Amino acid sequence: MSEYNIALIPGDGIGPEVVAQGVKVLEKLAQISTLNFNFQEFPLGADHYLSTGELISPETKQDLADFDALYLGAVGDPRVKPGVLEHGILLDLRFSFDMYINLRPVKLLMEKFTPLKDTSPEDIDMLVVRENTEGLYAGSGGFLKKDTPQEVAVQEMINTYHGVERVIRYAYEYAARKEGKLTLCDKCNVLEYAHDLWQRVYKKVGEDFPAVEQDHILVDAMTMKMVRNPEIFDVVVTCNMFGDIITDLGAEIQGGMGLAVSGNINPEGVSMFEPVHGSAPDIAGEGKANPTAALLAAAMMVEVLGHRKEAEKIEKAVNNALTAGKTTEDMGGRLSTSEAGDYICSILE
Ligand code: ATP
Repeated sequence: MSEYNIALIPGDGIGPEVVAQGVKVLEKLAQISTLNFNFQEFPLGADHYLSTGELISPETKQDLADFDALYLGAVGDPRVKPGVLEHGILLDLRFSFDMYINLRPVKLLMEKFTPLKDTSPEDIDMLVVRENTEGLYAGSGGFLKKDTPQEVAVQEMINTYHGVERVIRYAYEYAARKEGKLTLCDKCNVLEYAHDLWQRVYKKVGEDFPAVEQDHILVDAMTMKMVRNPEIFDVVVTCNMFGDIITDLGAEIQGGMGLAVSGNINPEGVSMFEPVHGSAPDIAGEGKANPTAALLAAAMMVEVLGHRKEAEKIEKAVNNALTAGKTTEDMGGRLSTSEAGDYICSILE
């Protein structure tokens, strides 16, 4: 028996509705496996912020540090200025817990979901490993002569040996487990210092993984190949900004945000799993939210906790539900959010 304590952060809008389906499916998984999950809910998000003025307190962060994983719905609410909740909760958690890897699978489940023609599920099955704490998003820089015609704005791209090495090593380990290929995606022909470091670390760490096939692609070529030849990619490792951009392209070629999943991983600490879509306030409370991405995020959590076979059970059930048309309206089905969750539970085996 493996027992895990999971912190739930349902958040805003449709977040609570989709997280509730994830909990249902994980409880069903516990019945048919040797896994056991204890859940505790943390009411972070717009309501909490508006009633207390607090985004996330140091005490809450201390509590969260004791959990095996965090399972998040979505944050964002029209009553709160855009960015406040996202920065104050999501980004704060990512940095506080040093979740230095962003895992974004790009997997086509059914041919009809991709806008690419003549492309089948065998063609689109890759995993993007994005550096999550450095690069251009590290928040280093400043203004000179702000608000004058001579203004200078500098945004520095931070690449530490430590930061680059740990994400590249994680990607190699993943590729080795899959017996696959690892592609380094960068812009070494222009970013001659930052991505020279990535190149050297990629080669050096690669010496520890002789069985992993190596490949390299410039980020501009990457965007073209993801559309023309997505089948050439297996595991891809890249920096923070390029990862941000290519994973949104990846979400589209796999069928849109409703299916995209994100894991913010600290392999030595606490990791957080979430659907990529936002809080969708326009449909909140109507039972229309598609829980698929939240369920696939739960599957990724189970996999990262070390149970690939059990994760596959959730993925298989999700796939079968999509094939049978047992989905919410946005995917062409007729089920409510809760009914879609119930159906997945009923076919989980
Ligand atoms: P933010 O990302 O800032 O929280 P948002 O929730 O409006 O904002 P998206 O997640 O990009 O942004 O969603 C855009 C629209 O897509 C939503 O308004 C909603 O209509 C639809 N949508 C998003 N997620 C889902 C879902 N899980 N099920 C059904 N429709 C969805």
